[in-house]
Amino acid sequence: MSEDSGVMQRVLLASVLAVLVAAPFGVGSARAADFPASHAGYHTDAELAVELDAIAAAHPDIVQLFAIGKSYQGRPLRAAKVSDNVAEDEPEPEVLIDGLHHGNEHLSLEMTLAALRFLAGDYGSDATVTRLVDTREIWIVFAVNPDGAAYDLLGQKGFRDWRKNRQPNSGTTAVGTDLNRNYGYRWGCCGGSSGSPSARTYRGRRPFSAPETAALRDFVDSRVIGGRQQIRAAISYHTFGRQVLWPYGYTRTDRPADMTADDQRAFVAIGRAMASRNGYRPMQSSDLYITDGDEGDWLYGTHRIFAFTIELAARTASGDDPPDEAIGPETKRNRTALLHLIDRAGCPWAAIGREIANCGAFYDDLEARTGWTVDPDGSDTATAGRWARGDAAQTRYGGVGIQPGTAPSGRRVLATGLAAGATARSYDLDGGVTTVLSPPIDLPAGTGQLLTLRWSFAHGADATADDYLRVTVEGETGSAVALEAVGAASLRGAAWHTLGFALDEFAGQRIRIRIQAADAGRRSLVEAQLDDIRVTRPTS
Ligand SMILES: [Zn+2]
Repeated sequence: MSEDSGVMQRVLLASVLAVLVAAPFGVGSARAADFPASHAGYHTDAELAVELDAIAAAHPDIVQLFAIGKSYQGRPLRAAKVSDNVAEDEPEPEVLIDGLHHGNEHLSLEMTLAALRFLAGDYGSDATVTRLVDTREIWIVFAVNPDGAAYDLLGQKGFRDWRKNRQPNSGTTAVGTDLNRNYGYRWGCCGGSSGSPSARTYRGRRPFSAPETAALRDFVDSRVIGGRQQIRAAISYHTFGRQVLWPYGYTRTDRPADMTADDQRAFVAIGRAMASRNGYRPMQSSDLYITDGDEGDWLYGTHRIFAFTIELAARTASGDDPPDEAIGPETKRNRTALLHLIDRAGCPWAAIGREIANCGAFYDDLEARTGWTVDPDGSDTATAGRWARGDAAQTRYGGVGIQPGTAPSGRRVLATGLAAGATARSYDLDGGVTTVLSPPIDLPAGTGQLLTLRWSFAHGADATADDYLRVTVEGETGSAVALEAVGAASLRGAAWHTLGFALDEFAGQRIRIRIQAADAGRRSLVEAQLDDIRVTRPTS
């Protein structure tokens, strides 16, 4: 990493420290919020701050504290980064751990704190912890809802059972939004949240209307670097039920169109592997009950992060968190499950034996935005139907499909003439060449790496040899055409084909993949699609 980014990081941390020092609380209560004696081992926000400072001071090389933003009442949303060379942004797989979305789930904060304690405390003595801290960047957001947690402690006889944040809702005296229904993926879609401000599962007036979820969104968005999300896996801790949950919450369908088959199988495999370690029950989130607008659906649906929710501990008779003697055993039994997920962040699909295909230098199922650039040189001549990523609606012409209508994986593809409709000819590629360029891809040394992709090229009988689909690999020492499909004066329907192109001549280089389609010469009906663009791992 460059010195510049190190300086930037220090400036960022300095401003973050200023936030932490200022910490203007608007609690508005004469009585300090604290736990009853039976729960004295739990941490208030003030006690958490003291503990975090002590851990960071003892482990300055691998722990840095910051805040992702502020709560509605102005509390810092305390966070830590754990990694070797912690001040640098290294190209390592990243993991997000968070807790306490719900104010009355204090044990979930104890779990995030326990995670920091064992990652920092066992670094250098525990081989697994040391390896993972050295090879990952781990982000911990200790409490997403510190206002709700503080308010929960202000009951006359112990807890208030307060779940939401403390944001007023206009037009009503009802306070608070359920932060885990306020995320912006299929928000409010499916009966898994409430539109009533007085309800415990009130979803808020719009996605990310709560400052706490907006801060988490902004942090996760900030980890998109070079077009690619760096966070590969996530755990959000809640209580109760001793379950390991994976997306989606919004639907009971195991694999809806917005989840690929590989991802669904990997979720199940990783979830079961974690459950075998903490003794919890693994299941899809919606098997418990339907939720919409929750964090896990957003992390996966928008960012393709392998996001799990863990419901800690058995439900107590009172519905409150268990007495503090439960903190040690319950967090301890989650240690190896968490370490397993941090390990899997290196290649989540290794859980289903797909590491060679999916964990090479590049893998894009085109479901999430990953840094492709349309018309990168400003020289494209196409006047309509330029490359775009999205659902490829089926179009038919002359009795054949001109766009395939279904994607080889998930629902999205790279396509020309994406805005298809009943009239294929109105929406196809026209006027010349359209280009889309991949982000830079650093190929490791080693032979056997393949560029693989799925492609379709279709045209009407009015096409000519001037029309084409072309895929070019551009390296440091030259370029090579990996695929060229050329038009002809006959009707050619859409069909998915597979390309495999050896990259040995580019091993060790930084490459880009340039994809071009053309309706050149005489105007004709031309459409192209691509999906599942990969560089496989070296085999030797
Ligand atoms: Zn919860």
